[in-house]
Amino acid sequence: MTHFSDLGLSQPVLQALELKGYDTPTPIQEQAIPPVLEGRDLLGIAQTGTGKTAAFMLPGIDRLRESDNRIPFKSCRMLVLAPTRELATQIAASAKDYGALAGLKVQVIVGGTSVNKDRNKLHRGTDILIATPGRLLDLIDQKAFNLAGVEVLVLDEADQMLDLGFIHALRRINQLVPKERQTLFFSATMPKQIKELVSGYCTDPVQVSVTPAATTAERIDQYLFMVQQDEKQALLELILSGRHPVPGEFERVLIFTRTKHGADRVVKKLAQKGIEANAIHGNKSQPQRQRALDQFRRGKVNVLIATDVAARGIDIPGVSHVLNYELPNVPEQYVHRIGRTARAGRDGIAIAFCAEDERAYLKDIQRTTDAELERLDLPENFRAVVEGVGPTKPAPRGATRVSKKKIRPKLLGGKKPARKPASETQGDQQARKSAGKPKHKHQARKGRPNRPGDGRPGGNRRAGGGNRSRRRSLHA
Ligand code: AMP
Repeated sequence: MTHFSDLGLSQPVLQALELKGYDTPTPIQEQAIPPVLEGRDLLGIAQTGTGKTAAFMLPGIDRLRESDNRIPFKSCRMLVLAPTRELATQIAASAKDYGALAGLKVQVIVGGTSVNKDRNKLHRGTDILIATPGRLLDLIDQKAFNLAGVEVLVLDEADQMLDLGFIHALRRINQLVPKERQTLFFSATMPKQIKELVSGYCTDPVQVSVTPAATTAERIDQYLFMVQQDEKQALLELILSGRHPVPGEFERVLIFTRTKHGADRVVKKLAQKGIEANAIHGNKSQPQRQRALDQFRRGKVNVLIATDVAARGIDIPGVSHVLNYELPNVPEQYVHRIGRTARAGRDGIAIAFCAEDERAYLKDIQRTTDAELERLDLPENFRAVVEGVGPTKPAPRGATRVSKKKIRPKLLGGKKPARKPASETQGDQQARKSAGKPKHKHQARKGRPNRPGDGRPGGNRRAGGGNRSRRRSLHA
């Protein structure tokens, strides 16, 4: 087995890794670190979750230590370009951890924040800069920054940068960086445009390729509800409130919608039912997005609604469930989405809501992933509940279910809704009365803290073996 110490990294970097608790390099780290330390250009075909950040950051830090150049005025020594604000912020956090003992200055600039602050913080230059392309070019155009000092250039998730329309920005940046430099280029896919970019940016790159999608997907149990579009919100509410049990124990639930408005609508409707959730998408300001992510990461608000772009590249441990409220029209996007669960060697659950007009997407997804999504039954009396005229049946006895007592208050963020939600349907009321339960379950457990570990860790999910036995116990 290879250890980090076999790869040629410096003592400060090895110590920083020890502090982080990493002892074994991931495949991409094992393959990429030695050639990067030798000064070679690199083409890494890999996506988030493979450990690619450390694969470029660790040797990059050592390259900077070795050259020992001074911090250039209004410039940087290592430039990392990333498609989204969230990914840039996440890379910066890793860079600070990895570079802590190497004494390197790390800065991050992203769109949606004050340009003046960025100008000030970059005035004296920095060792490592992580930037989104748009903001970087803004500062360059204002003569507040230049790329003359760049020794190491990293393009992370280049295919996403192209999807977001950064092609011209990337071509321009290529003209502005010194010819004498090292380039580390990462992309999950290699369409023609990316190949062209690679040949413009890299010189004789070492190619390293890892494909985690299949292995990740193996650890994810994938389920499916066939549900009408206008029933999705009601189904979501029943699931999150524990009234319609699904496999797995909720810890953190990440929900994907296709549009920004869709995400906001879901948050608003959940709030009306007393379920606290946040949304991240392109119309939110950077501080709003960061706050939502922090609250999710820290377990303060355990439901996050996201669009694909906003969630791209984010890495949050403890996402137990990914819920596809709307199916993506590109099957690869489904793989990216469900890859937000089952991180760091854990298992995960993915649940898709598929409406009649999304059947074609479902077919594509099943064909691409070669996985059959296991169909779950809708609640009994569901249509009546949606129309507000009937109760749901309580879950069958002995079913593996999400513990209402423990989980619901967690999803509620431990807060009581201020007043009776105006939109509580007649069906909701009847269901509550018929079950003889207080309206908000957590009100019945006053004085008990909502501890993060309140749910059964790991749950009963694995007890029965695979999906099939679990399904049986659900519907026993
Ligand atoms: P990345 O693909 O860079 O986003 O990394 C995915 C996750 O794996 C992050 O949470 C990293 O902190 C973590 N990670 C990266 N390298 C290692 C390693 N060698 N051992 C354990 N965890 C790691």
